Amino acid sequence: MPAADRQFAIFWFRRDLRLHDNHGLHEALNNGLPVIPLFIFDGEILGKLDNKADARVEFIHKALAEIHATCQQYGSSLLVEHGHPLDVWQRLIDRYQPGAVYANHDYEPYARERDAQIGRILKENGIEFRTFKDQVIFEKSEVMKGDGTPYTVYTPYRKSWERQLRNEHLIHRPSENLLDKLWKTDALTMPSLDDIGFDEAGIDFPDRALREAIVIEYDKQRDFPAVDGTSRLSVHLRFGTVSTRELVKRALELNEVWLSELIWREFFMMILWHFPHVVGKAFKEKYEAVPWRNDEADFQRWCKGQTGYPMVDAGMRELNTTGFMHNRVRMVTASFLTKHLLIDWRWGEAYFAEKLLDFDLSANNGNWQWAAGCGCDAAPYFRVFNPTTQIQKFDDQHRYIKRWIPELNSLDYPTPMVEHKFARQRALDAYKSAL
Ligand SMILES: Cc1cc2nc3c(=O)[nH]c(=O)nc-3n(C[C@H](O)[C@H](O)[C@H](O)COP(=O)(O)OP(=O)(O)OC[C@H]3O[C@@H](n4cnc5c(N)ncnc54)[C@H](O)[C@@H]3O)c2cc1C
Repeated sequence: MPAADRQFAIFWFRRDLRLHDNHGLHEALNNGLPVIPLFIFDGEILGKLDNKADARVEFIHKALAEIHATCQQYGSSLLVEHGHPLDVWQRLIDRYQPGAVYANHDYEPYARERDAQIGRILKENGIEFRTFKDQVIFEKSEVMKGDGTPYTVYTPYRKSWERQLRNEHLIHRPSENLLDKLWKTDALTMPSLDDIGFDEAGIDFPDRALREAIVIEYDKQRDFPAVDGTSRLSVHLRFGTVSTRELVKRALELNEVWLSELIWREFFMMILWHFPHVVGKAFKEKYEAVPWRNDEADFQRWCKGQTGYPMVDAGMRELNTTGFMHNRVRMVTASFLTKHLLIDWRWGEAYFAEKLLDFDLSANNGNWQWAAGCGCDAAPYFRVFNPTTQIQKFDDQHRYIKRWIPELNSLDYPTPMVEHKFARQRALDAYKSAL
């Protein structure tokens, strides 16, 4: 069919589950053809999830249900497919013969590969695959060093990011004003969670609204895990239920330390883009030689929050119960696993990946490598967090640790599984032997 006779364009939602200020969706709605909004539950990804009550799937499902409900107000429907993306696209091409397919960039190695394959199939069928930058302000090689190579240290990257920022990077893409350009089919129904083989996880999801009063005080409150002092937007940034452009705009007005956290997010995305070997390998190769102990029983005590170090245990129990852990405590638990227990950072990374509602490959990997000392711009390996003094500094009233360890001062709570000074020295010796 010649492109001019085709009746639809398709917009494919991935990490951008919102109808407002969505760059790719805006471009699609402006293209002249009615737009079919599409989401594919990827059988490859879902098949790897052991827990059928995975909160991430429920979160996505809820976001899609909202999108679908709004589409219906415009006499339209969200098309939800389930299967391997390649098979799904073969079917969609046959069924709709779309004039063009629109999406936003997705930077993870699996997504890059997937999009390259889909792009090829679309091309073979004479269909253009148009993709746009949406989830970050600067992507790929947009912020580079003077010599054209990628930054590997955060602070100069941040300075360069801030220097390059212009109003045009924050332009609003008013997709929400063009929803009457969606295809007119309100007859489709959303599959239930059960239909795709999942159950509700029974945890609360944080609100997507920016809590300005908290962001204004962010630099003063962010390190205290007992305080509700951070935005809790990570899951929304992960799935694109909020717009990064809008948040950066507000961050510039409200709090520069909070802005710098949003830039950390982009920094690790940039690192993953340029150095995909970080998936599975240390950024700094020589750290591959660290002689990890990898004791399975020790690992289980860490996972369950039974190490006898209250800050570590509170954090792991918070994670196991809510799918969230405060950033300060993520650093303490990660340091404890890699240094005190000398367990490979990849074990901890995988455990967090399974449990975190906000799990993001680039941020999780970057931060784990930072904690283990093997990442770009990492803490030097000889700086070992003391999990006890961390309590004195950041939870001196014990409000956080008592919240998660009700048996804290009783005989039911274990004694420390390893002595701090001994473990610290063991870690220093092990690291030194490798470097
Ligand atoms: C071992 C370890 C693993 C981590 N794994 C993840 C992960 O899988 N996904 C994830 O989003 N964050 C991860 N982080 C970073 C950080 O802990 C969370 O982003 C933060 O706690 C989320 O809470 P918030 O939304 O209230 O963040 P805020 O403190 O309000 O920060 C705003 C946003 O900035 C971004 N951000 C903040 N800190 C970082 C950081 N250090 N690196 C990258 N982005 C950051 C997040 O998108 C966050 O939502 C990890 C940190 C550590 C130490």
